[in-house]
Amino acid sequence: MSDPQTQASWANVRDEISRRLKKQQFDTWFRRVEPREISRDRVDLEVPNEFIREWLQKYYLDTIRGAAADVLRASPQVTLRIPDAASAPAASAPADGASVGAASAPAVAPEPVAPRAEPRTISDGRLCLNPSYTFDNFVVGPSNRLAHAAALAVAETPAQAYNPLFLHGQVGLGKTHLLQAVCHHMLARSPRMDILYLSCETFVNQFIAAVKTGSLESFRRRYRTVGVLLVDDIHFLAHKESTQEEFFHTFNALFDAQRQIILSSDSSPADIPTIEARLISRFKWGLVAPVVKPNLEMRLAILKQKAELRGAAVSDEVLMFLAKAIDTNIRELEGAVTKLLGAAHLTQRPVDMVLARELFADVLVEKRRQITIEDIQGVITARFHVKLSDLQSKRRSKSITLPRQVCMFLARALTDYSLEEIGGYFGGRDHTTVMYACDQIAARVQRDGDFAKMIEESTALLRDGARL
Ligand code: ADP
Ligand code: MG
Repeated sequence: MSDPQTQASWANVRDEISRRLKKQQFDTWFRRVEPREISRDRVDLEVPNEFIREWLQKYYLDTIRGAAADVLRASPQVTLRIPDAASAPAASAPADGASVGAASAPAVAPEPVAPRAEPRTISDGRLCLNPSYTFDNFVVGPSNRLAHAAALAVAETPAQAYNPLFLHGQVGLGKTHLLQAVCHHMLARSPRMDILYLSCETFVNQFIAAVKTGSLESFRRRYRTVGVLLVDDIHFLAHKESTQEEFFHTFNALFDAQRQIILSSDSSPADIPTIEARLISRFKWGLVAPVVKPNLEMRLAILKQKAELRGAAVSDEVLMFLAKAIDTNIRELEGAVTKLLGAAHLTQRPVDMVLARELFADVLVEKRRQITIEDIQGVITARFHVKLSDLQSKRRSKSITLPRQVCMFLARALTDYSLEEIGGYFGGRDHTTVMYACDQIAARVQRDGDFAKMIEESTALLRDGARL
């Protein structure tokens, strides 16, 4: 494995790359990329196989170059290579996928985090909260009304309204904000309340540490006796069997003692991959509330609020322009306000449409080029000579299954749709079917050169905005 300095530099470049791509594109193509050397002259990366190397070379080289140039403030030469057979196997992570303590450096670079201003934190040793994540600062609309109402109810009457409360939705839609708002609200009412808010990752890491150091008993004392437990990003338990088991018992102990439990996740309980059925069922005991993407009106309200919080007057025209341009999530909306006001301040220019157009030109271009599932269906039905209705039917003959799986694979790689949404475009198939399809196609791409070429050509066609 490369040295810590290389890992750290790569983490920054990777982070920047992730900002420039859709999450699923990033996950598909960059998850298994490892740095060999990162300097101002060279960015030398190792990728798992020839197919991914070619793909990155063809479609993402500019992205890598651009991100590296920005982060390193230089124009390094980018090289992609596949590991030579002689080289040592990559270090593997501990069984539960997390590493513990200073002695064991993580086997992979840290997961990229979305850009955000460094929050000031209030820390009393147990709680680490962002002071602006309050109910007062939370804009309520159709996309989060239920989640907000439930969070408020739980904050007012813990363990009575709903237990557990399970909030789920994609990244940047306000789950963490709501969880922390509950903490602020409870603490404002009873400052000595025994609240524990933490990320699931912290729970996992502390559990593994407790196992390693033989201090499970004190770990359990700590977690199983709190007054209120809030665990953010509980989907992090996926694929971690022993921690799931531990969390199951933590949950039961607290629930039996009528302590409030609040959880957040990026997918609904049943959609967290490989999570035990008994945990899923418990997650559903109380209230499961989704948060979804805000509509235009709500995006406008959020932009207004964010500008006001920064004490800036921004015209409705500019706000509407941003609300239309940015429809991904609330964190991006916030980022747009920061970018706009920051640029105006630095260049001493007014916050007007000219500046907004200039700053967000790339967002608009990208929007125009967004590939849709219909585009993919168009290209693939033409190439395989099948009908769209076949792809959506229940038919399972090989001549239909293959193009259907190809569509699912491309949809996963090239669009932002979730597994469930993709399944919906193909006769309401569930997410496991989509996941299976993606694995099948990825495997075939690796062993079948002609097939890989067909996938690449289809992708190129889609990228050029072509529709057969
Ligand atoms: P998640 O945990 O779902 O990924 P966060 O809670 O971190 O999302 O929200 C991302 C950013 O957007 C935060 O800075 C948060 O304050 C802001 N935000 C999210 N939802 C709202 C809302 N309804 N009103 C105001 N700000 C919001
Ligand atoms: Mg969060």
